[in-house]
Amino acid sequence: MFVIGLTGGIGSGKSTVADLFAARGVPIVDTDLIAHRITAPHGVAMAQIAQAFGAEFVAPDGSMDRARMRTLVFGDESARKRLEAITHPLIRSETERETREANGPYVIVVVPLLVESGTWKTRVDRVLTVDCSVETQIARVMRRNAFTREQVLAIIARQATREARLAAADDVVVNDNGATLETLGHDVEALHQTFLTLAAKRADKA
Ligand code: ADP
Repeated sequence: MFVIGLTGGIGSGKSTVADLFAARGVPIVDTDLIAHRITAPHGVAMAQIAQAFGAEFVAPDGSMDRARMRTLVFGDESARKRLEAITHPLIRSETERETREANGPYVIVVVPLLVESGTWKTRVDRVLTVDCSVETQIARVMRRNAFTREQVLAIIARQATREARLAAADDVVVNDNGATLETLGHDVEALHQTFLTLAAKRADKA
């Protein structure tokens, strides 16, 4: 399967762009959804989380107590690493399974932290970065999540820089001021045709 890794900073428009590919019949594998699912009630990460952190981190319904875990890992880097040592391999294997089982000419894997975490870049065939200015990110996320400017800036500070994401990209969708669903639709359509061609070439070789 030909795999595109879709990335971008918070509020850049990853979900918006992924939806436009999905509308063209492209299967989407979303690593955020997978991360949520493995820590949902009786998700595959829960036994290990209970063992490593204690039963008090498991909510009565069998899901991870997210508020409690957030508080813990916020101030404790080693706890964050322990949690990630459990979740990251599971996210990776679930992503690989969903990618294998996807039906389509190619698949898009949405990986917000593609540049930041580990070996994602080597495990996709091509990286598509959604790009916009930091000011645009701030405005969008303040509106979408009702966050303060400082809250958004704190999240952005933990992510890779705009330059690092652009450096990792094979393709870029510019989603800044002036971009509308219509202009994004044109950009996505052009990329879709490119990806179809590349996927067909790959299939010929296989
Ligand atoms: P991400 O998935 O990268 O965090 P989203 O696709 O959720 O970003 O976009 C962030 C917010 O900005 C959403 O509320 C979305 O509807 C809005 N948005 C995205 N692109 C545009 C645009 N070109 N014009 C106006 N609003 C946009």
